[in-house]
Amino acid sequence: MKLCRFDADRLGVIVDGCVFDVSDVLDTLPPASWPRPLADALIEHLDDVVARIAAMGLPSTGMALSDVVLRSPVANPSKIVAAPVNYRAHVAESEADAEINANRSVLTIDAAGLFLKAPSSLVGPGDGITVQFPSRRTDHEVELAVIIGKSCRDVAEAAALDVVAGYCIGLDITIRGPEDRSFRKSLDSYTVLGPWITTADEIDDPDHLRLQLAVNDAPRQNANTSQLIFNVRKLIAWASEWYTLHPGDILLTGTPEGVGPINGGDTIDASIEQLGSMRVAVTR
Ligand code: MN
Repeated sequence: MKLCRFDADRLGVIVDGCVFDVSDVLDTLPPASWPRPLADALIEHLDDVVARIAAMGLPSTGMALSDVVLRSPVANPSKIVAAPVNYRAHVAESEADAEINANRSVLTIDAAGLFLKAPSSLVGPGDGITVQFPSRRTDHEVELAVIIGKSCRDVAEAAALDVVAGYCIGLDITIRGPEDRSFRKSLDSYTVLGPWITTADEIDDPDHLRLQLAVNDAPRQNANTSQLIFNVRKLIAWASEWYTLHPGDILLTGTPEGVGPINGGDTIDASIEQLGSMRVAVTR
């Protein structure tokens, strides 16, 4: 199933390019209270929500995608874990470009470790990206995003896909420079997730998905997750060795080659095979 959040926190199912409003099933979720649990309520109860939708059926009429504003399909991740330098050709372009490497040697992913992005950086495609320091180089990075579905720790690689709720397209927007990654990549709107969550049952192998990105219709990135250095299973196992993962946590798997600058006025089109495509406006 493909589930989106749209407009003012409505829940939709995507079928044949149309959005069917199934927000009534949100009464399945427990009422919010203090302290808020670390898990995202929708993702934690996703199996129940999907079963309710299947039992209820869809409304008779849907809306065109162009008539809704797509928000981040995950509202409240406890954390966003991200992989750096996880495609060989991106490692090579990072080594060749001093603006990317900030005059430091490019570490391999096993030496660099994973990094964390602030959950407050998260937006949906309809919210767009607001460039905040136009004098600094700000780059797009398209990445396969894995949405964790269960609280887990020390997950074995062989069982890693069992903890996945679904997949999305992620944009890891990045200011280039010498500061820590978490500082340069955590500005408001610098993580885009969309266009919807595709539940894990629809994806046989997350390590064989083509991903593409264009800016103003000019192709910039075009690769396949089969080129990941640490594949999806290994990243989940590694992340869960260091952190307890909670339902709704987002794992950005790294960007392939072709990263480049974006500026106010640009339009980004990103797509991943089987997950859909999304258009994101850049403003400043
Ligand atoms: Mn990245």
